[in-house]
This record gives sequence, C-alpha cells and structure tokens, in this order.
Amino acid sequence: MTEEIPFLSLREVTSKYSSELHEAVARVVDSGWYLQGSEVHAFETEYAAYIGSPCCVSCANGLDALILIFRAYIETGVMKPGDEVIVPANTYIASILSITENGLVPVLVEPRFETLELDDSLLEQHLSERTRAVLLVHLYGRCAYTERIGSFCERNGLKLIEDNAQAHGCRYGKVRTGSIGDAAGHSFYPGKNLGAFGDGGAITCRDPELAAVVRSLANYGSSRKYVFDFCGRNSRLDEIQAAVLRVKLRHLDDDNAYRRSVADCYRENLRNPKVQQPEELPAEENVFHLYPVFCNERDRLQCWLSENGVGTVIHYPIPPHRQKCYRRWNSLSLPVTERIHREELSLPMGPVITKEQVLRVAELVNAFK
Ligand SMILES: *Cc1c(COP(=O)(O)O)cnc(C)c1O
Repeated sequence: MTEEIPFLSLREVTSKYSSELHEAVARVVDSGWYLQGSEVHAFETEYAAYIGSPCCVSCANGLDALILIFRAYIETGVMKPGDEVIVPANTYIASILSITENGLVPVLVEPRFETLELDDSLLEQHLSERTRAVLLVHLYGRCAYTERIGSFCERNGLKLIEDNAQAHGCRYGKVRTGSIGDAAGHSFYPGKNLGAFGDGGAITCRDPELAAVVRSLANYGSSRKYVFDFCGRNSRLDEIQAAVLRVKLRHLDDDNAYRRSVADCYRENLRNPKVQQPEELPAEENVFHLYPVFCNERDRLQCWLSENGVGTVIHYPIPPHRQKCYRRWNSLSLPVTERIHREELSLPMGPVITKEQVLRVAELVNAFK
C-alpha cells in the first residue's frame, strides 16, 4: 500500500532546494578536487559560526564525531580506558558505542518521562571517582541541558560533551546546543535536520588544541603529510557533502521554524486521551527533529495509522541496555527508559509536510479507539 503521508520524504526535501543543490554538486564535480578542499574548509567555518563554537572539524559521520572526541581526550591524557561517562539510558546506540569503542564505561542514567531528557536529579548518585564526563544527548531535537548539569560538571571537574546529532539549530537561551559544553558531535545523516546526500559528521569544541588532535585523528593521525603522531583513522567529510551541507545550512533556521509550526499544529489538534505528548519547552529549545507521542497501545496505533496511509517510525524499539551487543547490561532495570521505548511513536515531521497533512494525521490519531 502506498503511503499518502510519508514519515519523511527526502526526495521532497531535496526538491525544495533543487537548483541550489544541483549547482553545488556540479561545482564540485567540475572542480576536480574531492577531499579536503575549499568546500570542506568553508563548511567548517560556516558551521562553527552558526553553532557559535570556536572550532569545527568535519568527519565521516556522527558516530565517528563522538568516537573522535573521546579518543582525543584519551590521547591527551584527560581520560583513560576504564573511566566512566554518564549518559542517558534512552538514546540511539551511537551515543553508547562512542564510549565503549574507546574502552570507557557508560553509566546509564534514566531520563524523565515528561521531558525524555536526562534526569538531572540522578546525577550525584551516579558519580564515582572514575567519572570523567557527561555525554548529554539532545534527543528528538530537544535541549537536554540544565544549569544543574552544568554546575555538576564544573563542581566535579567533568567534561561536558554533547551529542547534537538530532538538534542542529536548537538553542538554550541565546546559546546553540553544540556550543554549551566542552565538545559536541554532530551527524549529517540524510534524515537529520541538517542532512547530507550520504554520511557526514562534525565535531565542534572550545579548545583549539583538542580540535587539532581530533583533526589529526580523523586523518590517519597525521597533521603533516606522511608524518603520523597517532594511530588514527580515516574519517573525512568529502567535498560534495560539504557543498550540499553549505546550501542546507543557509535554510536550516527556516526549516526549523517550519518544524515548530508543524509541532504547534499537532499540539493544538491532538486530543486523544490515550495519546500523550511530552512537556512543552520554550520555543527555541526544540527543533523537532522528531515529533514523539506516547501510547500504551503503541503498536496498535502504528498499525491504525499505517492502514490509513500514514508512515510513522519508532525511536527506538529496543533500548541500548536490552540489545544483544550489550549483553552485560541486559538485566539492568531502567523502567522509565523501557517505558519510553515501549510507548514511543514518531509522527510525520519535517520541512515539507503540509499543514493539511498534519491535520489529517491529528484527525486519525484522535479517531484511534
Ligand atoms: C544519528 C545519530 C548519531 C549517529 O550519527 P551517524 O551519522 O548516523 O553516525 C548519534 N547520536 C544520535 C542521538 C543520533 O540520532
């Protein structure tokens, strides 16, 4: 059956900026220069300015961005394998993988059900003498930062690292997520708010020395050709993706504003007592990467919408601690996290869904019995 209202049509997102994107890709194709060139350099400068961060280093994807941050802290002696990183238990697996990939130990902390973000009242009880960092995830496009998290990190000498894969353009007051902490990982996976035509990622950080180590690590551990200071990896953004991202970055604020208007429309029109929505945030603190709703008959709701031509996605069906790859945590009990994963359903959201479509989805959700 064809979906009348897809979860997200990337073809339509692209066609919205079609001529600019074609021009950008053609420019790179014709240039004969495909890696580490002027597009990548310009994108890094423009993205750093947008986020409000002194440094930006691009890389191959969002997972690498996070891996490279921890790896750089290990190379510079700030962390060592076995050290602990506090991280929300309800996140995409990449957040956790970036920690375990470096031999660091994730300490899974519950979110609040009302906000879906890390419960900052639980930080103290998870602190140990091995804690070195908090990895904060701005999940669903919501800002996860609180003053309490900031002062907890400061008081205990911890690095604050942000997973900004789902929150490009989000703000905390005047400050953009990705510039709040010491360093941040960004993903440009096609479906993200700022998405490439393939994989892409970036690190933003305050400290130019950390940025230099990250840049070297992403380029085989080399900062001078054929001289290797670290056993690095090959994780580079290519010129075509950078050119595409420069176009999309110019439209990001407008796209995010449109996402907010879609969210307003859902909030005004959804009224089924069986379906819950998260607590509202001040406007700029949410860029609505996703529009999650909660229902204890989630799977039946998803089928109902699907039968009526509406595409939805579950973010995410199995929490990290229940995955086979992390068998050692399978018996942990994290009831809030488990409830989110059991009840969450993401409704169609993005820069191209029409208001009529949003109203139709709301009508169908309201008709769910
Ligand atoms: C998408 C995502 C990542 C990983 O990004 P990739 O570019 O797919 O590697 C990391 N963390 C979160 C929260 C994400 O949603």
